[in-house]
Amino acid sequence: MDLELTAPQIRIRDAARRFAVETLAPRAHAFEASEEVPADIYRQLGALGLMAVDVPEAYGGSAAGTVAYSLAMTEISRVCASTSVTMGVTNMVGEVLAEFGDEEQRQRWCPRLAAGGLGAFGLSETGAGSDPGGMVTTAVLEDGVWVLNGTKQWISHGDTAEVVVVWARTDGAGARGLSCFLVPGDAPGLGVDAKEDKMGLRASHTCGLVLEDVRVPESALLGPRGGGFRIAMMALDGGRVGIASQAIGVASGAYDDARAHLSAAGSPSQADAFRLADMATHLEASRLLALRAAARKDAGQPFTQEASIATAFETEKAWAHSKDAEELKGDAGLRVGARVERALRDVRVSMIYEGTSEVQRIVISRAALRAG
Ligand SMILES: Cc1cc2nc3c(=O)[nH]c(=O)nc-3n(C[C@H](O)[C@H](O)[C@H](O)COP(=O)(O)OP(=O)(O)OC[C@H]3O[C@@H](n4cnc5c(N)ncnc54)[C@H](O)[C@@H]3O)c2cc1C
Repeated sequence: MDLELTAPQIRIRDAARRFAVETLAPRAHAFEASEEVPADIYRQLGALGLMAVDVPEAYGGSAAGTVAYSLAMTEISRVCASTSVTMGVTNMVGEVLAEFGDEEQRQRWCPRLAAGGLGAFGLSETGAGSDPGGMVTTAVLEDGVWVLNGTKQWISHGDTAEVVVVWARTDGAGARGLSCFLVPGDAPGLGVDAKEDKMGLRASHTCGLVLEDVRVPESALLGPRGGGFRIAMMALDGGRVGIASQAIGVASGAYDDARAHLSAAGSPSQADAFRLADMATHLEASRLLALRAAARKDAGQPFTQEASIATAFETEKAWAHSKDAEELKGDAGLRVGARVERALRDVRVSMIYEGTSEVQRIVISRAALRAG
């Protein structure tokens, strides 16, 4: 794999790194304490081209590709994973629009997302997490209007999104009966349930959404009727590159903290130095796996298995290494406000959303068995 980065990839990575260090780092703990990332942060990320990294320029995006997106996610996550979740999901919605939207849908929504308006991903329900085929939200076509009813759960920034991509059942049981809709965040009938009180990512709001006779025009259908499952699977493949990159970033933040602590203390024991070495080694391997999946996506090659391998490997390593980093820091690592303390809480969910570790193994083993 050619690891030489292009000028646009370097520009996006460096813009993300500068923003993370100069703007996010001084405020990340305050975001955590207030459970809020202010909207101006997303507008600033939009101005830097980081909210629609892989969306064509014609729709306001940076057209810099998935490698650039992966690098940007890692840099932002290194400092504030709550910010990177929102950035990641909005990028994912922008990509879905660019890929499956018609011209009017792209023109209407992509520039708003690119500028820092938020897009939410409304897939999960109580009985439909790992298996969207269990979805019970419905969309019925009545006199040229789609009427949506149902409940979504665990929707990131569902309370502040300008547009929510909502999956609903239009055509009977099973995965083939699902379609996808673009629902404005202020649509009458779209309500927000209580915010989840989570162990980590506390500045990223996660909410239930209640759809009660939400009426959207026929033109709100995204992609073909009955094509919702395929759209979800394609979006999640790309999303997993983002999750792996996020986990790399969070673990890198924890590693930085532990390394600085050991350096300042001077002469670490060999056991501590070896733990640090293991972290550095696994982080490097993880970066290569994520970049390989991203580069394959950019090249138009299949990348489903590669994205799941990167996600399964890195999210589990990131969890273990955040714990190692916390232990290397000793008592100081347990204090609220310590980078490793937040990393440990933030990284747990990366083994759950956009496919749990078990789901990643299902994807990887299916591809391995198909290869014969
Ligand atoms: C912080 C956070 C943010 C989220 N944001 C969003 C969002 O923006 N949009 C959205 O749509 N969803 C979102 N989710 C939901 C997330 O995608 C789901 O939680 C995830 O897909 C798992 O679904 P579930 O919780 O229903 O678990 P389940 O699917 O019920 O799984 C429960 C357990 O069973 C295991 N399991 C399930 N099926 C199998 C199988 N076939 N073989 C072996 N084991 C299996 C799982 O691995 C897991 O351990 C978010 C979740 C969290 C925690």
